[in-house]
Amino acid sequence: MVSKILIANRGEIALRVIRACREMGIPSVAVHSTADDTAMHVRLADESVCIGPPSAANSYLSIPAIIAACEITGADAVHPGYGFLSENAKFAQILEEHNITFIGPTAEHINLMGDKIAAKAKAIELGIPVVPGSDGEVKTAEEARAVGAEMGFPVLVKAASGGGGRGMKIALTEDDIEEAFTTARSEAKAAFGDDAVYIEKYLGKPRHIEIQVACDTHGNAVHLGERDCSLQRRHQKVLEEAPSTVLDDAARAKIGKIVTDAMVGMSYRGVGTVEFLYENGEFYFIEMNTRLQVEHPVTEAITGIDLVREQIRVAQGEKLSFTQDDVKFSGHAIECRINAENPETFTPSPGKIQTYHAPGGLGVRMDSAIYSGYSIPPYYDSLIGKLIVHAETREACLMRLERALGEFAIDGVETTIPLFEKLLPNEDFRKANYDIHWLEVFLGMKEAD
Ligand code: ADP
Repeated sequence: MVSKILIANRGEIALRVIRACREMGIPSVAVHSTADDTAMHVRLADESVCIGPPSAANSYLSIPAIIAACEITGADAVHPGYGFLSENAKFAQILEEHNITFIGPTAEHINLMGDKIAAKAKAIELGIPVVPGSDGEVKTAEEARAVGAEMGFPVLVKAASGGGGRGMKIALTEDDIEEAFTTARSEAKAAFGDDAVYIEKYLGKPRHIEIQVACDTHGNAVHLGERDCSLQRRHQKVLEEAPSTVLDDAARAKIGKIVTDAMVGMSYRGVGTVEFLYENGEFYFIEMNTRLQVEHPVTEAITGIDLVREQIRVAQGEKLSFTQDDVKFSGHAIECRINAENPETFTPSPGKIQTYHAPGGLGVRMDSAIYSGYSIPPYYDSLIGKLIVHAETREACLMRLERALGEFAIDGVETTIPLFEKLLPNEDFRKANYDIHWLEVFLGMKEAD
């Protein structure tokens, strides 16, 4: 059993974990940079430790500083949240060597899924359908051209170590392949220190549908249904919902079984998300995230399951608190990612929040670490909150979303709330008639096909 959990993160996700700890009676430790002295996670945790200067490289990403904070406070477990060190296999490994429980999967699984080429090969081995593409890494422009010619254009050149939509380049025709290959490689090298790339068929009108799984160390793997995360800007999710309007119970159960069988097959531990593109009734694996995701509350809303609590249970060697048969999906949930950004240009808008009032009421959840008088530091991600609404039907959920958005009062910084207000009356959005390109067309960033 763990006796004290250190949260190696900040912002809303640090609060999310602190809340679960408190409800389980486990003391929590916050870590923070000097830029986050007055942050809410520092105030709400039982203890806090300053781990370095503002730059994330020297604070939230500093493994020695976090290990030292564990030693000072006697924390015997670490929850990494998402981002930062959450998918760093070395971090998981080092914690293990210090007899500190990493609340997440094994270092081996993080490593495997962090290399998207290896992950795809593993997916094929485990019987998960994948996007057609190159057989592993593509090393030269000539090879890239040959793969494209064989598969048919357009194709996507993707970084093996990619994440956050970076290191991805499309080649519409053979004429573009050399440039796509070269730029994807150099972007990948600069962003991830690894220039390995691979090629996938570029799907024209897919949706992004991901399956949430939870697994324990007793051989149990349960899926918690899907999230539809097709509304994206620059390959980054903006709004997520569950269930997806394009899946029925049979399709959900079918893909859920494929995924849980695969998880049992690889002895996966903890929560994870298997991401797919979905087109013409078929699923195509793109990657697996071996951590809690930003959009996990959507699943919590429709299942009533506390995913962080389950993560902690599994890390302690306990069984999941539910079986597949216990999982019942109820109603519809939508999450809006609220960023401190200009809603038209998406330029970050850090600064002091003069007034903050969050929406509330039945079926409304607001996960955020901001407060009136809080200064958003310019050093980190611009996500300042997530609004999650839940109702019996999608139609009721949209009504509730509109009502909740209208209750916000955030003065002092710009936010992306107006984007959601603009989206709500749109007929395609109301009918969930969209694919992964739809939002960028709606935003005037690209032409409709
Ligand atoms: P990252 O790890 O950078 O998030 P992913 O492989 O998860 O990269 O892809 C992110 C997004 O990029 C997907 O949700 C989708 O919108 C787009 N994408 C990825 N692969 C393809 C593909 N083969 N065809 C079309 N779009 C794709």
